[in-house]
Amino acid sequence: MKLILLGAPGAGKGTIAKLLSAMDGAVQISTGDILRSAVEAGTELGRQARGYIRRGELVADELIMTLMEHRLQQADCESGFLLDGFPRTIPQAEALNQLLDKLGIALDKVLNLETSREVLLNRLTTRRTCVNRDCQAIYNLNSKPPAVAGICDQCGSEVLQRDDETEVAIAQRLTAYHTKTAPLIGFYEQQGLLMSVQSTSSEAVLKAVTEQLGLKD
Ligand code: AMP
Repeated sequence: MKLILLGAPGAGKGTIAKLLSAMDGAVQISTGDILRSAVEAGTELGRQARGYIRRGELVADELIMTLMEHRLQQADCESGFLLDGFPRTIPQAEALNQLLDKLGIALDKVLNLETSREVLLNRLTTRRTCVNRDCQAIYNLNSKPPAVAGICDQCGSEVLQRDDETEVAIAQRLTAYHTKTAPLIGFYEQQGLLMSVQSTSSEAVLKAVTEQLGLKD
C-alpha cells in the first residue's frame, strides 16, 4: 500500500496510519515525528526546524525534500509506505511526483480525512502523546485517557501535551493547513488519486479505505 494521508492537524492521520500499518505492513512515515526526533537529538536538521515547529509554521520545503528523498529510498519502504504529514505544500507535492517517477514508484491513493474545525480544535487541545519515541501512543483526555493520569498504558512513560499544542500554535497550524496544504486536495483530485472520507471514527475510515483499496478488514 502506497498512500498519502492528507488532512488538517487533528484529523486523525497518525491514528489511521498506525492502524493501516498494523494491518498491511506498510511503514508509517511521519515528517512531524522525524523532525521532533531531530529536535530532541539536537541534530542540524532539528536545530533548523525547532523554531518553526514551536510556532506552528511549516518548515522549509527544501529541508523536507532532502529528508524525504533519503527516507523513501530506505529498504523498509519496499513493502509500502503511508505518508503522514507529507507533502504539505504544492512545491512538496510536485517534488514528490518527480522523486517517485525517478524511483519508479506509483501511489495507490491520497486519503483525505475531512473534519470540522470544531472537532479539530477539541481533539488538538485534549490530545496527549507518550514522550517515548519508540512508543508515541496517542491519548485523548475525553475519549481515550490513559488508565493512570499522565502515564502511558503501553510503555509506562510520561504522557504530555506537545509543545505545538498550545492554543496559539494550534491556530497557526490550522492557518498553515488552510493556506498551504488544503490546495493539495485539488492537486490530487486532478491526478485522479483523491479519496475523501469523513474522519468521524477510526472504524469508519478503515472500512472506507479497505473497501476502496480492495483490502481485507
Ligand atoms: P505534524 O506532527 O505532522 O503535525 O507536524 C508538526 C510540525 O512539523 C508542523 O507544524 C511543521 O512545523 C513541521 N512539519 C511536519 N511535516 C512537515 C512538512 N511536510 N512540511 C513542512 N513542515 C512540516
